[in-house]
Amino acid sequence: MNTQSKEKLVIFDTTLRDGEQSPGASMTKDEKVRIAKALEKLRVDVIEAGFAISSQGDFEAIQAIANTVTDSRICSLSRAVRGDIERAAEALKGANAGRIHTFIATSPIHMKHKLQMEPDQVLEQAVGAVKIARSLIDDVEFSLEDASRTEFDFMCRITEAVINAGARTINLPDTVGYSDPGEYGAMIKRLLNTVPNADKAIFSVHCHNDLGLAVANSLAAVQNGARQVECTINGLGERAGNASLEELVMAVRTRKDVFPVETRIETQHIVPTSRLVSGITGFPVQPNKAIVGANAFAHESGIHQDGILKFRETYEIMKAEDVGWTTNKLSLGKLSGRAALSSRLEELGIKFDSKEEFNDVFVRFKALADKKREIFDEDLAGAGF
Ligand SMILES: [Zn+2]
Repeated sequence: MNTQSKEKLVIFDTTLRDGEQSPGASMTKDEKVRIAKALEKLRVDVIEAGFAISSQGDFEAIQAIANTVTDSRICSLSRAVRGDIERAAEALKGANAGRIHTFIATSPIHMKHKLQMEPDQVLEQAVGAVKIARSLIDDVEFSLEDASRTEFDFMCRITEAVINAGARTINLPDTVGYSDPGEYGAMIKRLLNTVPNADKAIFSVHCHNDLGLAVANSLAAVQNGARQVECTINGLGERAGNASLEELVMAVRTRKDVFPVETRIETQHIVPTSRLVSGITGFPVQPNKAIVGANAFAHESGIHQDGILKFRETYEIMKAEDVGWTTNKLSLGKLSGRAALSSRLEELGIKFDSKEEFNDVFVRFKALADKKREIFDEDLAGAGF
C-alpha cells in the first residue's frame, strides 16, 4: 500500500444544478434541502445548489440551502454578466462559506455560433465577470465552457487572465462529452505546464457521459494534476449525465496505489444518498450500476460464490458496508424461513394484506436468495416486496 502523503481532491457535487437538468428530474425547494443535507453528511466539499438567476425557485432553494448547510461550501452558477453574478451573491448571503461559479464559452464553435463574439471580447467579459464576483465574495470559480474543444493558446490566455483577476478555481469542462482520457489528461497537464500562474488556482474538471467516458476522463485529469472533480450522485445530469460521484470517490479510495489524492467523503453514506436522490427524482438506479446498483455486490456464479465464501477478496475489491449497504445482511439468505423474512419486513415497515400475498413474496425472496449471497434491506425495499 502506498503510504505517501496525498493531496486533497475537492469533490464538487452538482446534483442540484446539472443533475436537475436531467429531463424530468426537477425538484422542489424542500427536496433540494433534503438532498443538500445528505451531501453535507457525505462530506462533499462544494455543493452547487443551483443557478440563482434562472428562476425564483432556484434562487430560494440556494438561499435555503445556504442558510441550512454549514460543513460544505455552497455555490451558485452564473453567466459572466453582472445581473447573474449579483443574484448569485444575494442567494449566497447566509452561507457559512459561499462560491460564485461564473462561466463563458471559449470554443470557436460556441463563440461564433452561440455567443457571436470575438475571442478578445470573450476574454474581456470573462475577466470583468471574475472581478465583479470577487468584489462580492472571496471564492470564485471560472469555467471555460466547452474547454475540450477550445483552442489551446486561447485556453492558456483566458486562464492566465482570470487567475490574475482573482479566480481561485479554473474549471475545464468536457461539456459535450467528446474527449477521451488520453487526450483530456494531456490537455490538463499541458495547460498546467504552460500557464505561468497555474500555481495560484485549483484546476477542475466537469465531464459529461455522452460516450460513457465521464469518470474515465475525470480520473485521467486527476492523474495529470486536476484537484477538483465536478460530479453528481448516480451520474445524473444533462443528456447522458455527469461523472458519477460514487464511482470517482471509490476509484480513488480503492486504487490508492494509482491516484495521488484523497477525499474527505464519508463513504458509508453513499448508498443512502443514492437512494434519496433516486427516490426524489424518480430516476431508478440500474441494477448493474457500479457501487450503488442493487447487484453491485451480488455474486451469481457458483464459482464466484464459492470463492467469496472461502476468501472475500477473491472476487470483491470493496466492502459493501463501506459504501453504506446495511450490515445486518447476514440475517437473511437462502436458508431463511418465513418467520425471519416476515419479521424483517415488518421492521422495515412493509406490511401485507393477506397470507397469499406474503406467500408470493416468500417465493420471490427465495428466488432472489438463490441469486444473491447476501440479501440487503435495500433489496427487500427495492424489489417491491
Ligand atoms: Zn454540465
